[in-house]
Amino acid sequence: MDTEILKKDVVIIGSGPAGLTAAIYSARANLNPLVVDAPANTAKQTTPGGQLMITTEVENYPGFAEGIQGPELMEEFRKQALRFGTEFLETWITEVDLSERPFKLYTLIIASGASAKWLGIPGEAKVPDGFGGNGVSACATCDGPLPAFRNKVLVVVGGGDTAMEEATFLTRYAAKVYVVHRRDKLRASKIMQEKAFHNEKIEFVWNSGVEEILGTPEDGVTGVRLSNLQTGEERTFPCAGVFVAIGHKPNTELFKGQLDMDEVGYLLTSGQSTATNIPGVFACGDVQDSVYRQAITAAGTGCMSAIDAERFLDHLPVAMPSGDEVTVDGEHITPDHQAIITADGHMISNKS
Ligand SMILES: Cc1cc2nc3c(=O)[nH]c(=O)nc-3n(C[C@H](O)[C@H](O)[C@H](O)COP(=O)(O)OP(=O)(O)OC[C@H]3O[C@@H](n4cnc5c(N)ncnc54)[C@H](O)[C@@H]3O)c2cc1C
Repeated sequence: MDTEILKKDVVIIGSGPAGLTAAIYSARANLNPLVVDAPANTAKQTTPGGQLMITTEVENYPGFAEGIQGPELMEEFRKQALRFGTEFLETWITEVDLSERPFKLYTLIIASGASAKWLGIPGEAKVPDGFGGNGVSACATCDGPLPAFRNKVLVVVGGGDTAMEEATFLTRYAAKVYVVHRRDKLRASKIMQEKAFHNEKIEFVWNSGVEEILGTPEDGVTGVRLSNLQTGEERTFPCAGVFVAIGHKPNTELFKGQLDMDEVGYLLTSGQSTATNIPGVFACGDVQDSVYRQAITAAGTGCMSAIDAERFLDHLPVAMPSGDEVTVDGEHITPDHQAIITADGHMISNKS
């Protein structure tokens, strides 16, 4: 196989809101970024542009008073990144080696996002194959306020914190929210359970699985086919929307064993910067955010990553998760800022 060596100051994995914002900032800083994203693939549900490519109306991205279609928004991001000279490459990155430093010369910004977990049942796929985007969603914050769900009966599938959070949020708009769970107990933390149990608009359908999402192209979702997992009994349950809340999976498989991550696989960053545990490798967007997971927060941390990368390439110190700061030259500044440890291990005072 031919190997092509690309020399770049900044390589960005992912062209969702985080990756393209990092590209806009680093391109404007003359860092000539290369954005690598997986080619469009229906089975893997990948499209350059990230998760917003599979949604319809985005009503909460600032700057678009009337809302904007997800793919249209991402096209604008892409055009803006191109305008300042970003280069694009469509390929899956299947392996990274962060142990050596060819990337003395460049930095890596990881913006590979996360994917919602789905049930894999009939009716769940994206329109036109199912009702995804027409009554089926995996994001209450994103889609809950849409007119299609207001004052309607909705179903949330799941029993963890995500499901409780989604159900509680949806009661702001819905007439009633039914949480369908496979067991007779929730996995959610106590406080989240209490909140859901005390909410008059939430009811639970225990020991049950959703087998199929029902509807028509004109009306969207009209119901779900439920099965009682103890008795095997099946019934049709009318509802106008289904929110699948069984968790998310960050796209971090290829960084396992190299970058620090939490137990689910979200990359750990400094908190004061987007630095990971390896100097010169930064992470932004959903790949490092299990809490907010919004386009605007992804874009915000994308901007931070680009500024961190700029600082790093300018030989300035960047805050690490360990609390110390590092430079591209291998110097460490201690968390108390009292000392600098040089690349060859000498300690010198940092006092002026
Ligand atoms: C249906 C739906 C509706 C949503 N609606 C809204 C909304 O209305 N408002 C809102 O603010 N947010 C919404 N969100 C959430 C929003 O889409 C995400 O928070 C945002 O896209 C995260 O951006 P990101 O750049 O971190 O990652 P992503 O958008 O996930 O982009 C990551 C990119 O990296 C690529 N990639 C991953 N691994 C590799 C690899 N190994 N090699 C090459 N490329 C790789 C992927 O193909 C993908 O294109 C919605 C999400 C979904 C699923």
